[in-house]
Amino acid sequence: MNGFREELEGLRQQGLFRSLRVVGGPQAGRVLLDGREVLLLCSNNYLGLADHPALKEASIRAVERYGVSSGASRLVSGTMELHDALEKRLAAFKGTESALVFNSGYAANTGIIPALVGKGDVIFSDRLNHASIVDGALLSRARFVRYPHNDMAALGRLLAETDVAGRRLIVTDGVFSMDGDLAPLAELAALRRKYGALLMVDDAHGTGVLGPTGRGSAELCGVPGEVDIQMGTLGKGLGSCGAYVAGSRELVELLVNRARSFIFSTALPPAVLAASLAALDLVDSPAGANLRCRLARNSELFRNSLRDAGFDTMGSETQIVPLFVGDAEPTMEFSRRLLAEGFFVQGIRPPTVPAGSCRLRCTLMATHGENDLERAVAAIGRVGRELGVV
Ligand code: PMP
Repeated sequence: MNGFREELEGLRQQGLFRSLRVVGGPQAGRVLLDGREVLLLCSNNYLGLADHPALKEASIRAVERYGVSSGASRLVSGTMELHDALEKRLAAFKGTESALVFNSGYAANTGIIPALVGKGDVIFSDRLNHASIVDGALLSRARFVRYPHNDMAALGRLLAETDVAGRRLIVTDGVFSMDGDLAPLAELAALRRKYGALLMVDDAHGTGVLGPTGRGSAELCGVPGEVDIQMGTLGKGLGSCGAYVAGSRELVELLVNRARSFIFSTALPPAVLAASLAALDLVDSPAGANLRCRLARNSELFRNSLRDAGFDTMGSETQIVPLFVGDAEPTMEFSRRLLAEGFFVQGIRPPTVPAGSCRLRCTLMATHGENDLERAVAAIGRVGRELGVV
């Protein structure tokens, strides 16, 4: 009658149908799936903080003191002390004048971009940027120019050729979420200077994880002072939920006044804010440095072993390690067979990635054991050979 069934059938026929799976227990290195323990190789809980005792305790204490809800949008019922504390802590962490918390990375990008650019402005966006950046750009009604992935010569040409009456905004993922490679931030910073553009970096996958002190991809590339709009998430490396933008006081004031996902949405609750504060303390502690080291070691071991086994890891340089397959059906078959062997790895298909570039997206955690990873590598190699991927 309404055509929903036919639409779903179409997705099934293209191998693009998705369904939700229930996992038991926290997002730890192992989870329960269909009553069986499996190795979790697809969570963004990179440092293993999602069930860390320090975060759990901070959340429980916050609930006891502040209750469970923020009550309304902060412009309506007030900023709670924990929002204020977290924003001050994030600004200090990123070395900026100010910071603002959003309910999620998706809400941040779809709020920030339309708040900063509109008709008469031009957005220059990497072709592989996250969907929330694309959606934010489309909402903004600014002209949307996409440049080939990490191609700085092409971006330079586009910046030179494009007439812009208003603002130029260059936006990129710091770590590309489905490829695990890094944006060339030093070159992007040079183009920002040359063309007087604003530079926005979405560091969802770098925050807490990359750089000598976990400040993220801008720290790793040595350009933290040249990123005007430093966005990152709190629900990945930091093990909590939500997102932030760090930058100048004027930037934050403008977002408070203009970002619709900030203005028209109930703010994050106390438990989540307290967990983020505890996560930042951990990231800044020797324990945090140790977790970053273990994550880097696990990622390198896993990536190198699979590369040696003949897999195409698609330029991965981080804890996100894709394994190129190509078409949707063999990708999902690969994922199903690995699950049968006790390894939970997601197959990634369009629209998340371009058609013909389906892949397994493996994500490493600091809390994965070396033995478990060796078993995973062996199983992936065996199934990959059976399916003709390598
Ligand atoms: N940006 C990037 C690069 C991401 O990978 C993601 C999440 N996958 C987001 C933004 C959205 O963040 P959140 O999950 O907090 O909405």
